[in-house]
Amino acid sequence: DVSQGVILYLEDVSVSFDGFKAINNLNFYVNAGELRCVIGPNGAGKTTMMDIITGKTRPDTGSAYFGRTIDLLRLSEPEIAALGVGRKFQKPTVFESHSVFENLELAMAGDKRVFPTLFARLGGEQRDRIHEVLGIIGLQEQTHREAGALSHGQKQWLEIGMLLMQDPHLLLVDEPVAGMTHQEMDRTAELLLSLEGKHSVVVVEHDMDFVRSIAKRVTVLHQGAVLAEGSMDEVQNDPRVVEVYLGE
Ligand code: ADP
Repeated sequence: DVSQGVILYLEDVSVSFDGFKAINNLNFYVNAGELRCVIGPNGAGKTTMMDIITGKTRPDTGSAYFGRTIDLLRLSEPEIAALGVGRKFQKPTVFESHSVFENLELAMAGDKRVFPTLFARLGGEQRDRIHEVLGIIGLQEQTHREAGALSHGQKQWLEIGMLLMQDPHLLLVDEPVAGMTHQEMDRTAELLLSLEGKHSVVVVEHDMDFVRSIAKRVTVLHQGAVLAEGSMDEVQNDPRVVEVYLGE
């Protein structure tokens, strides 16, 4: 059951690239419904950790569980995605020549080859879900606009919407506010906060003001392991964290 308790367990995970330990005895737990922020200097292992969760990278040692019983290390990347683990990379990848609505429709189908035949088969329930997601991402007025004509921020929200169309249990979001205006950042904070309780979300982000605006619990990675964890105030005042960031 992934609707309550801990949704993600990484225990004593290590992975080396050419003898270099990118992840070094990492222990990382995420509660169902939680909005977690992960910060840490460049090279701390944030991307590698996300890659391990999605099955893109296999750890050398350690364990990774989804819910209490699903061993992620036995599953392929597509199998992990099918469990309801969605990942949003930094660069938005929307279908530029299709409308916002069509992008969401397409995301629901999960396979672009079925796209041309989809219109005819779209049921009322599916339409309702698309409109619900349009509301969550605040793009109702852009419904029939070509995605290529959207602003950078709007494309990012659309992509989050596309992930939501698949009703993910766990969403991994990589640097959502990179390149955004302050106004777009505020809207993104609202969006991510609105997911709390419904989806478990892990956000990797460099912008500390943004992290402060959304975070309840922050994990600081350093040299492939957790250096500190707690509220933004707790981790920012942690002398080990201060030292790592001053040394950057
Ligand atoms: P972050 O996302 O926190 O900046 P990464 O997870 O990208 O950190 O990288 C952690 C360390 O592992 C870095 O030193 C990086 O150079 C190294 N690394 C990551 N992926 C690979 C790879 N495929 N091959 C070799 N080294 C890698």
